[in-house]
Formats: sequence, C-alpha cells, structure tokens
Amino acid sequence: MTSEPYRIVILGGGTAGWMCAAGLAGLLAAADYDITLIESDEIGTVGVGEATLPHIKSFNDRLGIDEAEFMRATRGTIKIGIEFVDWLRPGARYIHPFGTFGDRWASADFQHHWARARLAGTDGRSLQDYSFAVAAARANGFEHPNDDPKSIRSTYSYAYHFDAGLYAAYLRKWATARGIRRMEGKVLDVVRDTQSGDVASLTLASGDEVAGDLFIDCSGFRSLLLGQTMGVPWLDWSAWLPCDRALAVPCASVAPLTPYTRATAQRGGWTWRIPLQHRIGNGHVFSSAFCGEEEARRTLLDALDGAALDEPRLLRFQAGRRAAGWAGNVVAMGLASGFLEPLESTSIFLIQAATTDLAGLVPRRGERVDPRMVREFNRLFEIHHDRIRDFLVFHYTANERIGEPLWDHVRTMPLPDSLAHKLALFRESAVAPDYKLGLFSRDSWLSVLEGQGVLPSAASPLTRRLPAADLQARLDDLAMRIAVNAADMTPHADFIAGYCASEAAS
Ligand code: FAD
Repeated sequence: MTSEPYRIVILGGGTAGWMCAAGLAGLLAAADYDITLIESDEIGTVGVGEATLPHIKSFNDRLGIDEAEFMRATRGTIKIGIEFVDWLRPGARYIHPFGTFGDRWASADFQHHWARARLAGTDGRSLQDYSFAVAAARANGFEHPNDDPKSIRSTYSYAYHFDAGLYAAYLRKWATARGIRRMEGKVLDVVRDTQSGDVASLTLASGDEVAGDLFIDCSGFRSLLLGQTMGVPWLDWSAWLPCDRALAVPCASVAPLTPYTRATAQRGGWTWRIPLQHRIGNGHVFSSAFCGEEEARRTLLDALDGAALDEPRLLRFQAGRRAAGWAGNVVAMGLASGFLEPLESTSIFLIQAATTDLAGLVPRRGERVDPRMVREFNRLFEIHHDRIRDFLVFHYTANERIGEPLWDHVRTMPLPDSLAHKLALFRESAVAPDYKLGLFSRDSWLSVLEGQGVLPSAASPLTRRLPAADLQARLDDLAMRIAVNAADMTPHADFIAGYCASEAAS
C-alpha cells in the first residue's frame, strides 16, 4: 500500500471544474488527496448558467462559504421560484415556487385536501394561492425563512441568481486557497495505460505531463476524457427535447428587482430572464427545426426589458446524457456528462450532486477504483438525469398552443413510460411524485401539473376524517395568512442592498 496521497486531476475550469474542485477541497481530508485542475484560457468556458436551485445553499453551507460575501462577489440576487409565462397557452402564467403548498397538515399531503375541496365545489382557489413562496415572489419580497416550523414564513427555501464568470472566479479563489493546484494550458494528448485502458496522464501543449489516479472530465461539450477517450456513448434525448440552440445576451437592469427567474414560451422555444444586481441575463432557447436564427434573435431582443449590453451569442447543444458518468478511472461532470436545457436550472445542481456523490465514493489513499463504487455513482447519475428529463418534457407536452408547429409536435409526441405513469397517477388519485433523492420534489411537480392544466379527478380517502366545513375554514385561514404575511415582506431590492452592503456583513 502506497503512502502517497491519491492524485485527482480535474480537466476544465468552467463552473463544473471549479465547483468540483471547491467541493472536493471542502469535503475531503486535504492530507489524503493531491488535486490539480487544468484549464485553458485559449479555449475558455461556456460562461452561461446563472440561475440555481435551493440545493446550492446546502452545498455552500457545507463548504463554509459565507452567504453575504458570496452574493457580493457574484453580484447575486435571490431566487424563490421560476415564473412560467404563456406555457399552457398565451396569457397563462404560474410560478414554480421553492417551497411547499399549504403548511403542515396531518392525515394526507396538502394537495389531497385542496383537490377534495375543489372537486366538492367548495373551494375555487388555485394551488398557487396556497404557496407562501408564490405570494412573496408576486410581492417582490424576500426575507430569510423563519426557523419556527409553525410559521407560514418557514415554508419556503431559496436559491441564487449570479454572474457565471464571477462565480467561477469566486470558486477558483476559494479552492486554490485550500490547496487545489491550478495549471493553465491546453491538453493535446491523453496517455492511456495499455493494459487497463485507464487514463494515465494528460499531455499539455507546453509538453508537461500531468499524471493521476482519477481524472475528472469537466471539459465541457467536448467531453474529451469520458466521451472521446473512454468512448462512453451519448444517449440522445432530442426526440423529447427538440431545442438545440440558445442565444444569450445581457441587458440593463430595470425595477423592480424580481426574486425569481422568468421563462416565457415563444413560438420556436422559450426565453429566459435572470435578474442580477448589475444587469439582467437573457436568452432564447430554441429548436432549429422549428425556428431560424434570425427569428430567434428578433424574439430575444424584443423581449428585453432594458437596453442590450452586447450582441447575442449563439450556443449549440443536444439534449441527452452519457450512458454512464464514470468509466474506468474517468468521472465526468457538467456539460462533459450531459446536457438538459436550463428550463429548471438543473445543470449546476447536477454538478453539485456529482461532486458530493463522488466525494462519498472516491478511493482513499492507497486504494484503487472499486467497480462497486462506480456502479453506485452511475446508478445515482442515471436517476438524477432521467427524473429531470421527465420533468422538463412535461412542461412542453401539456400545452394548448394549438397550431404552432413546435408546440403541436411536443403535445403529440410519445412520452417516456415513466412520465406517462406519473401523469396517470396524478390525474386519477392526486398522488404526485415524491422523491427523497434528487429532483424534483412533490411540490415542484404540483406547481407544474396544475400550471399546465393537469388536474386530479379524485383525492385520497385519508382526507375524509376532516369534516368538510372544517376543511374549508382551514383553507380560508391559510390563504389569508399567506396573503397578509407576503404583503409584509421586505422588498427584494432593499434586502439585497442591506445584506450585500459592506464587508462588515460577511
Ligand atoms: P465549460 O464552461 O465549457 O468549461 C469547460 C472547461 O474545460 C474550460 O475551462 C475549458 O478551458 C476547459 N477545456 C476544454 N478542453 C480543454 C483542453 N483540451 N485543455 C484544457 N482545458 C480544456 N445551468 C444552470 O444550472 N442554470 C442555468 O441557468 C443555466 N443556463 C444555461 C444556459 C445555456 C444556454 C447553456 C448552454 C447552459 C446553461 N446552464 C445552466 C449549464 C451551465 O452553463 C453549465 O452546466 C456550466 O456552465 C458548466 O459548464 P462546464 O464547466 O461543464 O463547461
């Protein structure tokens, strides 16, 4: 058994490379690992990816990252949900909130009580009216959630919007201060062990050889190590998710500072709007089979709230994932492992999940890669990707945008069996997917199911123990408490100004 530290080489210094480096530096014992990250200024990074999910807060907390300092450094804002505009049909809108519907009810999940009252004709409210996060978002308010579980103000969580370039720079500084070695240079060749086929070392343009025990491929869409070198096949999901292009452009800020991302359906795809402290990030994800680049460009520029700050930049992609995330001694993260369009801001979550999964399975000093750990990593990798795929596909498929070719196509395409099952279950029994692992939680599904016009025809028998009059009184009281408390929230812009004001805040 060697006493040398275990050598990990990360190829790529985009969001994936630096999140992984920071995560491993923060989670693993420094003395046992020798971690090097290689990045190439000449190749650069994708530089988009500015909206996140609440899980990022637990990632940052585990690493001990100070929230105020982090938000100041990345010009970050708060995100308590995503507003979907025109997805069901033009004029319709709803919010996918980061929080629960209702408060804590005994006997059955809240949506069953709501469905029972709705089916009895006693309650005409939308599920949206029972989400504190929705009400706070509509009021443009934000305060940190209350710790008291009895308070309606404890029923939400939050994520961040941030500048992708500043985020990578922040993580780079954080990780290199904790012992990650950074090398600048372009990898020109990959040397493999002739017996095992594992990667032995990477050869840089300078001639330097970087040897390692485990290689983490964060090389972006190129997938230089997992795809090109190890030959792990690509699973193409474009039959379900036909968007394959994005145009991205920043614009000047406007008031109010909204605490949510907006995704607006368009003829050939959808546009995003991500408000930061110093600008708004915008983009148009579209399908080249249904929308030309010039039409997408015009749609994007017409949708801007402020003056464009740059020329729109085009990115090409295909929806899908690698058949496995770990092969031999190569693990991939970020765009090197797969791509799902940013409709629910899931890519950064997937990097975080891969990093924490890997940190729990990585060999220790003196060990070799254990095939059982590889299988477990790949099991989790598949679960994460496949569940997100179903959720994204569902946003498209349940639409009433009749006569628009892209939307007609996605409404009538055959669904993955796993998604068809979820929809039938909800329609017939109000049961929504509820995963303890990964994405998405029950409340996320509920928001999009109702928002896309899918409603249950029955509620759980467990709701029957509550008399109908008591049920309605509880629902009325809940809706009232939500409305009163949301109206009282600090404006998001004031929260940001106060929280990120000075170094003293950190
Ligand atoms: P990249 O940023 O491409 O980085 C690749 C790195 O590898 C670079 O440092 C490059 O220099 C290096 N490299 C490559 N080849 C070599 C070589 N031969 N030698 C040396 N170095 C090399 N995610 C979200 O979570 N939320 C969002 O809102 C969101 N929006 C998105 C919008 C669009 C249009 C797209 C395309 C993606 C979006 N994403 C979003 C995804 C997110 O941008 C990516 O997951 C994230 O940026 C990670 O990228 P990466 O680090 O994998 O790749």
